[in-house]
Amino acid sequence: MATLLAAEGEPAFRATQLCQWVYKRQATSLQQMTDLPEALRQRLQERLYVSTLTLVRQQQSADGTEKLLFRLEDGNQIETVLIPADDKRTVCVSTQVGCAIGCRFCLTAQGGLVRSLRPAEIVSQVLYFQQPAQTPARAFTNIVFMGMGEPLDNLQGTVQALRILTADWGVGISPRRITVSTSGLVRRLEALGRANLKVNLAVSLNATTDAVRTQIMPINKAYPIATLLAACRAFPLALRQRITFEYVLLRDVNDTLADAKRLVKLMHGLRCKINLLPLNEIPGVPYRRPSDETVQQFQQCLLQHGLSAFVRQSRGRDISAACGQLRFEERVTKRLTDQSSQATMPSAHTAQGEQAQGGETSRPGATRREGGQ
Ligand code: SAH
Ligand code: SF4
Repeated sequence: MATLLAAEGEPAFRATQLCQWVYKRQATSLQQMTDLPEALRQRLQERLYVSTLTLVRQQQSADGTEKLLFRLEDGNQIETVLIPADDKRTVCVSTQVGCAIGCRFCLTAQGGLVRSLRPAEIVSQVLYFQQPAQTPARAFTNIVFMGMGEPLDNLQGTVQALRILTADWGVGISPRRITVSTSGLVRRLEALGRANLKVNLAVSLNATTDAVRTQIMPINKAYPIATLLAACRAFPLALRQRITFEYVLLRDVNDTLADAKRLVKLMHGLRCKINLLPLNEIPGVPYRRPSDETVQQFQQCLLQHGLSAFVRQSRGRDISAACGQLRFEERVTKRLTDQSSQATMPSAHTAQGEQAQGGETSRPGATRREGGQ
């Protein structure tokens, strides 16, 4: 914005004004930005617009989880979820339409990658919950990049969105309230560390041997467990910051006590906590969820060995809130929108010449190394 306005011969504070209108006051058009000179607004009109997401469907679960399906300007659809838990309310944002990583237990993987989201499309999911018309119940405390897609496969879009979300001139959210979750694209993980954004990191480990991890997460062929954990050990953390390791529990695949003990060994020397996610069973996914007893025993073993371990029950099961499920259903049933409203969520980006964002064009399920740091 600063560069653009400087090229227009405008003073630097105009960029701040513009960003405040978009990110703080949620203006939906340049015309609303009344403290910008009329002539400037006219000139900018040709260069800038405030992008929108359209709310297609909205579902509320008995446990309070709210699931939103948004249509992007090109017609693709993404999901955003608001998850209330204890004293926290967490917004879970998507970073891609679909995902190229191909984890065998994940619904988002099934359609492959369509495209990466632009920074504006990521930020807009958050801004939706800060719209002036929102009820206080919608106010959120945390953000997780755990919706559809692999954030680090869209490194450029993710990093730019994080900058906007955390900057004083942007949305102004503390990075300590934001967590980025990755399946473990190691080179990109290193780049994220170098970007020094101070956000929290979650890593989807999901197995304790390379054989099992490769079977359920093909990315493990490119970045096996030892390589991934070495990158985690080198990841810059603040004083009390810890890495969260996510572990989807699959019956008879990775849920034995031997797995739990191996996990303890793998975590040696890491400042970490473990989130156990009993599989959310979904159509087309060939795995089962372990019994509650197995889950408990697994957790107990971790606790006994001094690890912090939590069981995260999947939320909003009555509204199909598994990652990617709402979009999937919408696609399958082609249901007409039952709640359609133009939810305008401002995020400015240049109308012309916006580059395709970071995501790669690798094919669904393909195992590959990410390049182009
Ligand atoms: N791509 C990123 C973030 C999105 S997935 C990642 O993989 O980390 C967010 C989390 O949901 C991951 O930890 C993933 O392992 C988990 N997940 C995916 N499908 C699931 C399912 N069917 N049941 C339970 N957890 C699942
Ligand atoms: Fe992609 Fe994450 Fe699903 Fe794996 S678990 S396919 S990385 S969204």
